[in-house]
Amino acid sequence: MIEDSLARKAKKQLYKAAKEMDMDSNLLKILEKPMRILKVSIPIKLDNGKIKVFTGFRCQYNNAKGPTKGGVRYHPEVTEEEMVALAAWMTWKCSLLDLPYGGAKGGIICDPRKLSENELERLTRRYTSEIMPLLGPHIDIPAPDVYTTSKTMAWIMDTFSMMKGYTEPSIVTGKPEILGGSKGRKEATGRGVSIIAREFFKAKKKNLKGAKIAIQGFGNVGGHAALFLSQMGAKIVATSDISGALVDPNGLDVPGLIDCVEKHACIIKHPGKQIDREELLLQDVDILIPSALENQIHLKNANKIKAKVIIEGANGPTTPEADEILEQKGIEVIPDILANAGGVVVSHLEWVQALSGLFWEEDQVNKELERKMVKAFKEVWEKSVQKTVSLRCAAYLVALERISEVYRFRGMFP
Ligand code: GLU
Repeated sequence: MIEDSLARKAKKQLYKAAKEMDMDSNLLKILEKPMRILKVSIPIKLDNGKIKVFTGFRCQYNNAKGPTKGGVRYHPEVTEEEMVALAAWMTWKCSLLDLPYGGAKGGIICDPRKLSENELERLTRRYTSEIMPLLGPHIDIPAPDVYTTSKTMAWIMDTFSMMKGYTEPSIVTGKPEILGGSKGRKEATGRGVSIIAREFFKAKKKNLKGAKIAIQGFGNVGGHAALFLSQMGAKIVATSDISGALVDPNGLDVPGLIDCVEKHACIIKHPGKQIDREELLLQDVDILIPSALENQIHLKNANKIKAKVIIEGANGPTTPEADEILEQKGIEVIPDILANAGGVVVSHLEWVQALSGLFWEEDQVNKELERKMVKAFKEVWEKSVQKTVSLRCAAYLVALERISEVYRFRGMFP
């Protein structure tokens, strides 16, 4: 079911924006399909000596604006359809932020929590060698996504480098700093979410100080968003992860939660009032930040959402049906392709640094991230006012108009 609704959802959003901007029907024929997708078998030897064959994918959706860019996720629910939807969203995201990239996504169907570190390393290296024909610093550049980390990127970089016979740091982003990773990359997505929240409140002439926030997911995105938003004076009153959900109307101790996750890999060992995980999305808050997986806000719970605004830290957390309900209820949604773009913005800076061999200080990285996020927010906000459309539709319009312009100049090959 997830696969169907995801592919349908990605297309629905594209068609809506294409209609709104009166997109050339020939261009739509190109943009509604992925450029290429590779499905691979990944046999590895498990620690117990047995062989297990995993399935992986890499989808490159569109490369009109430049090499394709996007994460690699390890998750039991990875499907080919999901890869296509996520790669399409990466294409629109990179265009919206005006990065010189197209979009891609990869993944392996696996449960990384059930694999040892050695097994994960073998899985990553074999996956890399299988998708090797599609990879290159000017072709397709992977990055971390759900359940992959800087360590995963280091293995991809090393495998690619060994097969080529020279060290190539610009083949991945989100790698450790010692290998040419960028300062500020790890925090970038969460920092971007906080910048977008601040800009939205500014545009609404409201104060973010004291605003109540619920965050679904306390991983790299949710945890960092919580930290930066609490530093801006907002109150994180509820959060959840796979282990459970915690609430505190006076505001949770965010640094304490981050320590708890570092020590125990879950939030639930932290003191606080526990609630049902499903209740997290239904809290009476000013801002709700879903930063876990797709399809969390759907037909069955959209009506019960009490938040005033939703900021999509995850990719695709709201179904199109839920989107319509939220719009009727007057709940604004800041779309994923804008809200969580901080990660890929700093990925681009990391790629530029690795290609040039010249590395930046963290404040320089953060300043550029800030500049890009604020600019994209303004463009989306103005488009939404000018066309009286939702922020999601406005974000698609800005992204797709840019891609149309690229096609207008490049023309059609042959
Ligand atoms: N996986 C992240 C995303 O969905 C980052 C991708 C990248 O940096 O290439 O935006």
